[in-house]
Amino acid sequence: MPLHIETPLIPSRQLSEITGRSIWLKMDALQAPGSFKIRGIGHACTEYVSRGARRLVSSSGGNAGLAVAYAGRSMGVPVTVVVPHTTSERARELLRLENAEVIVHGAGWQEANELALSMVGPTDAFLHPFDDPLLWQGHATVIDEVARMGLIPDAVVLSVGGGGLLSGVAEGLHRNGWSHIPIIAVETHGAASFRAAATAGHAVQLDSINSVATSLGAKRVCDQAVEWAGKHTIHSILVSDKDAVDACERFLADHRVLVEPACGASLAVAYDNAPVLAPFKTVLVIVCGGATATVAQLRQWAQTL
Ligand SMILES: *Cc1c(COP(=O)(O)O)cnc(C)c1O
Repeated sequence: MPLHIETPLIPSRQLSEITGRSIWLKMDALQAPGSFKIRGIGHACTEYVSRGARRLVSSSGGNAGLAVAYAGRSMGVPVTVVVPHTTSERARELLRLENAEVIVHGAGWQEANELALSMVGPTDAFLHPFDDPLLWQGHATVIDEVARMGLIPDAVVLSVGGGGLLSGVAEGLHRNGWSHIPIIAVETHGAASFRAAATAGHAVQLDSINSVATSLGAKRVCDQAVEWAGKHTIHSILVSDKDAVDACERFLADHRVLVEPACGASLAVAYDNAPVLAPFKTVLVIVCGGATATVAQLRQWAQTL
Protein backbone atom coordinates (compact mmCIF):
# COMPACT_ATOMS: atom_id res chain seq x y z
CA MET A 1 0.00 0.00 0.00
CA PRO A 2 1.42 3.44 -0.86
CA LEU A 3 2.07 5.92 1.95
CA HIS A 4 0.08 8.67 0.22
CA ILE A 5 -3.69 8.79 -0.22
CA GLU A 6 -5.66 9.46 -3.39
CA THR A 7 -6.78 13.02 -2.76
CA PRO A 8 -10.12 14.61 -3.66
CA LEU A 9 -10.45 16.39 -7.00
CA ILE A 10 -13.07 19.07 -6.48
CA PRO A 11 -14.45 21.93 -8.56
CA SER A 12 -14.08 25.36 -6.94
CA ARG A 13 -17.29 27.31 -7.30
CA GLN A 14 -15.65 30.45 -5.95
CA LEU A 15 -12.61 30.36 -8.24
CA SER A 16 -14.68 29.34 -11.25
CA GLU A 17 -16.94 32.34 -10.63
CA ILE A 18 -13.97 34.72 -10.24
CA THR A 19 -12.19 33.50 -13.37
CA GLY A 20 -15.06 32.54 -15.63
CA ARG A 21 -13.35 29.15 -16.11
CA SER A 22 -13.70 25.68 -14.64
CA ILE A 23 -11.18 25.61 -11.83
CA TRP A 24 -10.48 22.18 -10.35
CA LEU A 25 -8.53 21.63 -7.14
CA LYS A 26 -6.36 18.58 -6.48
CA MET A 27 -6.43 18.64 -2.70
CA ASP A 28 -2.98 17.39 -1.72
CA ALA A 29 -3.15 19.58 1.38
CA LEU A 30 -5.15 16.62 2.75
CA GLN A 31 -2.22 14.19 2.70
CA ALA A 32 -1.48 12.99 6.26
CA PRO A 33 1.86 14.85 6.57
CA GLY A 34 0.22 17.97 5.11
CA SER A 35 1.55 18.20 1.57
CA PHE A 36 2.05 16.44 -1.77
CA LYS A 37 5.63 15.61 -0.71
CA ILE A 38 4.61 12.25 0.73
CA ARG A 39 3.87 11.03 -2.82
CA GLY A 40 7.50 11.13 -3.91
CA ILE A 41 9.14 10.81 -0.51
CA GLY A 42 6.89 7.88 0.38
CA HIS A 43 7.81 6.14 -2.87
CA ALA A 44 11.52 6.82 -2.37
CA CYS A 45 11.52 5.74 1.30
CA THR A 46 9.69 2.51 0.43
CA GLU A 47 12.22 1.80 -2.31
CA TYR A 48 15.27 2.54 -0.14
CA VAL A 49 13.96 0.41 2.73
CA SER A 50 13.24 -2.48 0.34
CA ARG A 51 16.87 -2.15 -0.85
CA GLY A 52 18.00 -2.56 2.77
CA ALA A 53 18.10 0.92 4.33
CA ARG A 54 17.62 0.70 8.09
CA ARG A 55 17.45 4.43 8.85
CA LEU A 56 16.19 7.46 6.92
CA VAL A 57 18.07 10.77 7.14
CA SER A 58 16.82 14.21 6.09
CA SER A 59 17.91 17.81 6.53
CA SER A 60 14.54 19.40 5.90
CA GLY A 61 12.72 21.26 8.66
CA GLY A 62 9.82 21.66 6.27
CA ASN A 63 7.33 19.45 4.51
CA ALA A 64 9.95 17.12 3.03
CA GLY A 65 11.29 16.31 6.52
CA LEU A 66 7.74 15.80 7.77
CA ALA A 67 7.06 13.39 4.91
CA VAL A 68 10.24 11.41 5.69
CA ALA A 69 9.31 11.27 9.38
CA TYR A 70 5.78 10.10 8.53
CA ALA A 71 7.09 7.48 6.08
CA GLY A 72 9.61 6.16 8.60
CA ARG A 73 7.10 5.89 11.42
CA SER A 74 4.60 4.20 9.10
CA MET A 75 7.20 1.62 8.07
CA GLY A 76 8.73 1.21 11.54
CA VAL A 77 12.09 2.61 10.40
CA PRO A 78 13.93 5.21 12.51
CA VAL A 79 14.29 8.72 11.09
CA THR A 80 16.87 11.39 11.87
CA VAL A 81 16.25 14.97 10.75
CA VAL A 82 18.98 17.60 11.11
CA VAL A 83 17.55 21.12 11.09
CA PRO A 84 19.19 24.54 11.52
CA HIS A 85 18.51 26.79 14.54
CA THR A 86 16.24 28.94 12.32
CA THR A 87 13.66 26.12 12.12
CA SER A 88 10.46 27.08 13.92
CA GLU A 89 9.43 25.44 17.17
CA ARG A 90 6.23 24.33 15.44
CA ALA A 91 8.18 22.45 12.75
CA ARG A 92 10.36 20.75 15.38
CA GLU A 93 7.25 19.71 17.31
CA LEU A 94 5.60 18.27 14.20
CA LEU A 95 8.76 16.24 13.50
CA ARG A 96 8.89 14.94 17.07
CA LEU A 97 5.19 14.08 16.86
CA GLU A 98 6.16 11.69 14.05
CA ASN A 99 8.77 10.19 16.41
CA ALA A 100 11.70 11.51 14.39
CA GLU A 101 15.02 12.19 16.09
CA VAL A 102 15.51 15.95 15.65
CA ILE A 103 19.07 17.30 15.75
CA VAL A 104 19.37 21.09 15.76
CA HIS A 105 22.64 22.18 14.18
CA GLY A 106 24.01 25.21 12.35
CA ALA A 107 22.91 28.73 11.52
CA GLY A 108 21.39 27.77 8.18
CA TRP A 109 20.28 24.87 6.04
CA GLN A 110 23.74 24.48 4.48
CA GLU A 111 25.35 23.54 7.81
CA ALA A 112 22.46 21.29 8.85
CA ASN A 113 22.63 19.52 5.50
CA GLU A 114 26.39 19.01 5.79
CA LEU A 115 26.01 17.37 9.20
CA ALA A 116 23.14 15.21 7.90
CA LEU A 117 25.24 14.02 4.94
CA SER A 118 28.20 13.26 7.22
CA MET A 119 25.93 11.04 9.34
CA VAL A 120 24.76 8.86 6.44
CA GLY A 121 26.24 5.39 6.95
CA PRO A 122 26.12 2.34 4.66
CA THR A 123 22.75 1.18 6.03
CA ASP A 124 21.16 4.64 5.94
CA ALA A 125 19.29 6.39 3.11
CA PHE A 126 19.49 10.14 2.60
CA LEU A 127 16.31 11.72 1.26
CA HIS A 128 16.79 14.80 -0.90
CA PRO A 129 13.78 17.16 -0.81
CA PHE A 130 13.43 17.52 -4.60
CA ASP A 131 16.34 16.12 -6.64
CA ASP A 132 15.75 12.37 -6.96
CA PRO A 133 14.11 10.43 -9.86
CA LEU A 134 12.23 8.30 -7.30
CA LEU A 135 10.61 11.47 -5.96
CA TRP A 136 9.47 12.55 -9.43
CA GLN A 137 8.02 9.07 -10.11
CA GLY A 138 6.03 9.32 -6.90
CA HIS A 139 4.87 12.90 -7.47
CA ALA A 140 3.61 11.85 -10.93
CA THR A 141 0.81 9.85 -9.26
CA VAL A 142 -1.04 13.14 -8.72
CA ILE A 143 -1.64 13.29 -12.48
CA ASP A 144 -2.41 9.54 -12.74
CA GLU A 145 -5.30 10.17 -10.31
CA VAL A 146 -6.67 13.10 -12.32
CA ALA A 147 -6.54 11.01 -15.52
CA ARG A 148 -8.26 8.10 -13.80
CA MET A 149 -11.06 10.35 -12.62
CA GLY A 150 -11.68 11.46 -16.18
CA LEU A 151 -10.86 15.18 -15.97
CA ILE A 152 -8.82 16.51 -18.90
CA PRO A 153 -7.43 19.94 -17.95
CA ASP A 154 -6.28 22.57 -20.47
CA ALA A 155 -3.47 23.63 -18.10
CA VAL A 156 -1.98 22.68 -14.73
CA VAL A 157 -1.02 25.32 -12.15
CA LEU A 158 1.61 24.37 -9.57
CA SER A 159 4.20 25.94 -7.27
CA VAL A 160 7.95 25.56 -7.77
CA GLY A 161 10.59 25.38 -5.06
CA GLY A 162 13.39 23.06 -6.13
CA GLY A 163 11.37 21.75 -9.06
CA GLY A 164 10.54 18.28 -7.74
CA LEU A 165 6.77 18.76 -8.04
CA LEU A 166 7.21 20.31 -11.49
CA SER A 167 9.34 17.36 -12.64
CA GLY A 168 6.83 14.87 -11.22
CA VAL A 169 3.80 16.54 -12.78
CA ALA A 170 5.58 16.77 -16.15
CA GLU A 171 6.42 13.06 -15.89
CA GLY A 172 2.80 12.32 -14.98
CA LEU A 173 1.47 14.33 -17.93
CA HIS A 174 3.78 12.48 -20.32
CA ARG A 175 3.04 9.01 -18.99
CA ASN A 176 -0.69 9.69 -19.39
CA GLY A 177 -0.40 10.87 -22.99
CA TRP A 178 -0.84 14.52 -22.00
CA SER A 179 2.50 15.91 -23.14
CA HIS A 180 0.66 18.81 -24.86
CA ILE A 181 -0.94 20.14 -21.64
CA PRO A 182 0.98 23.24 -20.49
CA ILE A 183 2.20 23.80 -16.94
CA ILE A 184 1.92 27.16 -15.21
CA ALA A 185 4.89 27.22 -12.82
CA VAL A 186 4.42 29.72 -9.98
CA GLU A 187 7.01 31.20 -7.63
CA THR A 188 7.16 34.27 -5.40
CA HIS A 189 9.43 37.14 -6.49
CA GLY A 190 11.86 36.43 -3.66
CA ALA A 191 12.25 32.74 -4.50
CA ALA A 192 12.37 32.77 -8.30
CA SER A 193 14.99 30.10 -8.93
CA PHE A 194 13.01 28.46 -11.73
CA ARG A 195 12.49 31.77 -13.51
CA ALA A 196 16.24 32.40 -13.29
CA ALA A 197 17.01 28.96 -14.69
CA ALA A 198 14.40 29.13 -17.45
CA THR A 199 15.76 32.52 -18.52
CA ALA A 200 19.39 31.37 -18.49
CA GLY A 201 18.72 27.94 -19.99
CA HIS A 202 20.55 26.24 -17.13
CA ALA A 203 20.19 26.04 -13.35
CA VAL A 204 21.28 29.25 -11.64
CA GLN A 205 22.24 29.69 -7.99
CA LEU A 206 20.38 32.60 -6.40
CA ASP A 207 22.33 34.66 -3.85
CA SER A 208 19.53 34.64 -1.33
CA ILE A 209 15.89 33.84 -0.74
CA ASN A 210 13.58 36.60 0.41
CA SER A 211 10.02 35.31 0.73
CA VAL A 212 7.55 34.14 3.37
CA ALA A 213 6.95 31.14 1.08
CA THR A 214 9.79 29.25 2.76
CA SER A 215 8.85 25.95 1.10
CA LEU A 216 9.72 27.55 -2.25
CA GLY A 217 13.11 28.65 -0.93
CA ALA A 218 15.49 26.49 -2.96
CA LYS A 219 18.31 28.71 -4.23
CA ARG A 220 18.79 26.44 -7.22
CA VAL A 221 16.30 24.17 -9.00
CA CYS A 222 17.22 20.62 -10.00
CA ASP A 223 18.63 20.10 -13.50
CA GLN A 224 15.61 17.93 -14.33
CA ALA A 225 13.30 20.96 -14.02
CA VAL A 226 15.46 22.86 -16.51
CA GLU A 227 15.40 19.87 -18.84
CA TRP A 228 11.59 19.80 -18.74
CA ALA A 229 11.56 23.51 -19.57
CA GLY A 230 13.30 22.58 -22.82
CA LYS A 231 10.77 19.95 -23.91
CA HIS A 232 7.42 20.87 -22.29
CA THR A 233 5.42 24.10 -22.46
CA ILE A 234 5.96 25.74 -19.07
CA HIS A 235 4.84 29.31 -18.32
CA SER A 236 6.85 30.87 -15.48
CA ILE A 237 4.75 33.19 -13.32
CA LEU A 238 5.83 35.29 -10.33
CA VAL A 239 3.52 36.56 -7.61
CA SER A 240 4.14 38.79 -4.59
CA ASP A 241 4.30 37.45 -1.04
CA LYS A 242 1.23 39.56 -0.31
CA ASP A 243 -0.76 37.93 -3.11
CA ALA A 244 0.32 34.47 -1.91
CA VAL A 245 -0.72 35.21 1.69
CA ASP A 246 -4.01 36.83 0.61
CA ALA A 247 -4.78 33.74 -1.47
CA CYS A 248 -4.20 31.55 1.62
CA GLU A 249 -6.69 33.63 3.60
CA ARG A 250 -9.28 33.56 0.83
CA PHE A 251 -8.79 29.83 0.32
CA LEU A 252 -9.29 29.24 4.05
CA ALA A 253 -12.55 31.20 3.90
CA ASP A 254 -13.76 29.59 0.65
CA HIS A 255 -12.61 25.98 1.07
CA ARG A 256 -11.92 25.75 4.80
CA VAL A 257 -8.39 24.41 4.37
CA LEU A 258 -5.23 26.10 5.67
CA VAL A 259 -2.22 26.04 3.31
CA GLU A 260 1.23 27.65 3.30
CA PRO A 261 2.08 30.72 1.18
CA ALA A 262 4.07 28.28 -0.99
CA CYS A 263 0.70 26.87 -2.04
CA GLY A 264 -1.00 30.27 -1.88
CA ALA A 265 1.30 31.34 -4.73
CA SER A 266 -0.48 28.92 -7.09
CA LEU A 267 -3.88 29.83 -5.72
CA ALA A 268 -3.07 33.53 -6.27
CA VAL A 269 -2.88 32.92 -10.03
CA ALA A 270 -6.48 31.73 -9.90
CA TYR A 271 -7.74 34.33 -7.40
CA ASP A 272 -6.18 37.10 -9.54
CA ASN A 273 -7.44 35.49 -12.77
CA ALA A 274 -3.91 36.11 -14.06
CA PRO A 275 -3.61 36.86 -17.80
CA VAL A 276 -1.69 33.58 -18.28
CA LEU A 277 -5.02 31.75 -17.78
CA ALA A 278 -6.67 33.55 -20.72
CA PRO A 279 -6.45 30.68 -23.26
CA PHE A 280 -7.68 27.96 -20.88
CA LYS A 281 -11.24 26.83 -20.10
CA THR A 282 -10.51 24.02 -17.64
CA VAL A 283 -7.67 24.60 -15.20
CA LEU A 284 -6.27 22.16 -12.65
CA VAL A 285 -4.62 23.70 -9.58
CA ILE A 286 -2.37 21.44 -7.53
CA VAL A 287 -3.21 22.44 -3.95
CA CYS A 288 0.18 21.33 -2.66
CA GLY A 289 -0.63 22.23 0.95
CA GLY A 290 2.05 22.64 3.61
CA ALA A 291 1.91 22.02 7.37
CA THR A 292 4.24 24.69 8.74
CA ALA A 293 2.00 27.78 8.68
CA THR A 294 -0.51 28.72 11.38
CA VAL A 295 -3.56 30.96 11.13
CA ALA A 296 -1.88 33.41 13.54
CA GLN A 297 1.22 33.60 11.34
CA LEU A 298 -0.88 34.14 8.19
CA ARG A 299 -2.71 36.98 9.90
CA GLN A 300 0.56 38.55 10.95
CA TRP A 301 1.98 38.33 7.42
CA ALA A 302 -1.27 39.75 6.00
CA GLN A 303 -0.89 42.78 8.29
CA THR A 304 2.83 43.41 7.77
CA LEU A 305 3.26 42.75 4.03
C1 LIG B 1 8.12 21.42 -1.27
C2 LIG B 1 6.94 22.27 -1.48
C3 LIG B 1 6.77 23.00 -2.67
C4 LIG B 1 7.77 23.03 -3.77
O1 LIG B 1 8.06 21.75 -4.27
P1 LIG B 1 9.43 21.48 -5.04
O2 LIG B 1 9.37 20.04 -5.37
O3 LIG B 1 10.55 21.83 -4.09
O4 LIG B 1 9.44 22.36 -6.23
C5 LIG B 1 5.60 23.73 -2.81
N1 LIG B 1 4.68 23.78 -1.84
C6 LIG B 1 4.81 23.09 -0.69
C7 LIG B 1 3.74 23.20 0.33
C8 LIG B 1 5.94 22.31 -0.47
O5 LIG B 1 6.07 21.64 0.67
